[in-house]
Amino acid sequence: MVPALSPSRAADFMQCPLLYRFRVVDRLPEPATPAMARGTLVHAVLERLFDLPAGGRTRDAAGELLPGQWTRMVDERPELSDLVDEADPARLQSWFDDALRLIERWFTLEDPTRLEPAERELYVETEIDGLILRGYVDRLDVAPDGRMRVVDYKTGRAPSHLFEGKALFQMKFYALVLWRLHGRVPTRLQLVYLGSGELLTYEPDEHDLRAVERKVKALWVAIERAATDGDFRPRPSRLCDWCGHKQLCPAFGGVAPPIPDDAVVLALDPRASGAVELVTAPPMAAGATDAEATADRRAPGSPRAGVVR
Ligand code: SF4
Repeated sequence: MVPALSPSRAADFMQCPLLYRFRVVDRLPEPATPAMARGTLVHAVLERLFDLPAGGRTRDAAGELLPGQWTRMVDERPELSDLVDEADPARLQSWFDDALRLIERWFTLEDPTRLEPAERELYVETEIDGLILRGYVDRLDVAPDGRMRVVDYKTGRAPSHLFEGKALFQMKFYALVLWRLHGRVPTRLQLVYLGSGELLTYEPDEHDLRAVERKVKALWVAIERAATDGDFRPRPSRLCDWCGHKQLCPAFGGVAPPIPDDAVVLALDPRASGAVELVTAPPMAAGATDAEATADRRAPGSPRAGVVR
């Protein structure tokens, strides 16, 4: 099997090799959280809204899509019903109201009546020197002259300048894949933060994307080495507060499960290392951005990264 890497698993390993192990090797379950489910619901509504004619893409229309999309999600994953007491109309309404607040914030940032996305929830994949890179792009806008804008929705808050690079890694990863697929560097990468009502934009060039390519290749070498050595060390950081496996983490007094005999195979299994989710962000990342938003905003950001607040 050809090895594969998704931006989510790449980000896991960069954040903490033990987190990568818990997710890819041990495959520990991670119950859905309200933040994750709300993010998925909001994504679904923003995606479906573009099925409507341009003039009909209103706040009210988006609100009307919420119950149907929620029902579809629960049908597909019945365990989600544990997150919301649907027998209590007030709680159900409150759940939809929370999602609607995020959607309404989106309307302050973008005008869907003036957008015609070329693609929504676009699966992208390319192979670079024997490593498959894959992921889902929330939205791809293509201008008549071929310029591409890659858009990703985040239901958390925008990161501080200190963490913008981390937030943009995923977008540059997609830009690299699109560049390899179409022979053209996307003109703009745009992260839409619905939690704080901010846009983070970046205009990549070939130099950037070559650097991302080197980084991804080096990351895969590091993953292979960790798998061969069975050495997935914890890397504690403030993001540990959002780690669903903290109680098992030796850095916090826990005991990790014994590493499986076939850990090497599991760690490099492309179905896990290249796993992609149609979800806004794992719960840890969503919460992390909330925390990061309170970090030191005086830190210098990338010179071509722009935040519209
Ligand atoms: S708690 Fe922190 S150090 Fe431990 S596995 Fe999770 S992210 Fe890694």
